[in-house]
Amino acid sequence: MSTDGKLGPNQRLIGVPGSRAALATPALVLDLDIFEQNLERMAEIFDGRPEGIRPHAKTHKCATIARKQMERGAYGVCCAKPGEAIALAEAGVRSLLLTSPVVDPYKVETLVGLRGGLDELIFAVDSERAVDLLARAAGTAGVVISVLIDVGVGNNRTGARSTEAAVALGRHITAHASLELLGMQCYAGHVQHIEDPVARDAEGRRVLEGIAATKAALTEAFGPLKIVSGGGTGSYDIDLEAKVFNEFQVGSYVFMDVEYNAVRPRGNAAWPFETSLFVQTTVVSANVEGRATTDAGYKSFAMDGPQPIVVSGAPEGTVYKFLGDEHGWVHLPEGAADLAAGDVLSCVTPHCDPTVNLYDVYHVVRGDMLVDIWPIEARGRNW
Ligand code: PLP
Ligand code: MN
Repeated sequence: MSTDGKLGPNQRLIGVPGSRAALATPALVLDLDIFEQNLERMAEIFDGRPEGIRPHAKTHKCATIARKQMERGAYGVCCAKPGEAIALAEAGVRSLLLTSPVVDPYKVETLVGLRGGLDELIFAVDSERAVDLLARAAGTAGVVISVLIDVGVGNNRTGARSTEAAVALGRHITAHASLELLGMQCYAGHVQHIEDPVARDAEGRRVLEGIAATKAALTEAFGPLKIVSGGGTGSYDIDLEAKVFNEFQVGSYVFMDVEYNAVRPRGNAAWPFETSLFVQTTVVSANVEGRATTDAGYKSFAMDGPQPIVVSGAPEGTVYKFLGDEHGWVHLPEGAADLAAGDVLSCVTPHCDPTVNLYDVYHVVRGDMLVDIWPIEARGRNW
């Protein structure tokens, strides 16, 4: 068996008809037709509009996917962490926005050092410390670094806590010749997963009113903002109507997951995005009636969300439970025929982003065939 490098044991199956079912598992599987449809549908939503997307790469951590998003109109991609940005930059992605504050001098210097090789490098900041570190590193490197003021919303995970604080931070930024203030960003994470469309709409609009007020104050203080960035998959339609953002940081739309599939779109419509990402697992033992043991446990799924949903290989109504580090349990519905060792199951991931972080590669399939393997360059890059 070839297990060359990080691409793993399935390389021999690329291009072999029927190879999807023969993958060594647990394997992260990307259905290319659905993935491409998701990219296309998001791009179509923005075609002809003044707004655009800068998708969040924290979801996929993959240079190939970042490039595909940019080929279909994305301005660049967002990154959550310096390690993620560095991995993508090393893999040739040339336009990056750091959406989390970076307050470690070594990380700041390393990122600023990449500036020359990139088309665009933008930092969101919410403290004077972050501004000062950036200004110093940019001055030393002889470059000008672009900055957005991170504005707190919802649970105030990060961001300036008030409009006054945002304006004050803006003044601190514009006092540095090595920094260029491009605008603001904010992410209302708590809105994205409100399942009830009416409640999500109401909270989304409420939050956007506050953001619009801060945007107006920053515009008055510093002139028109080039970038007003924010939003996610769960609020993209609410955000589009509000016309506050000109860039959308949508992430999960490329894959969708159990959590997002539970969020109901407005007006009982269907999401334009469908599940493209699956964990494929194999039954390794089936000696108990009504139950079978798989090879995918805690190490194969992020554990913060609901249970995985089995979409093929077992009857509807099958319940997936985590059995331990290495194994899962499938409980079959009453009266269903038992599974057998070697049976292959496909599961929707409970929460896509932290699940992706557990894998080295995407197994890219069209129909029943493995057609490619894409490295997840930034997996584990949580620093
Ligand atoms: N922007 C920021 C700052 C985020 O933290 C996230 C996800 O957590 C996103 C955008 C993407 O959101 P979603 O996956 O809901 O599309
Ligand atoms: Mn997420």
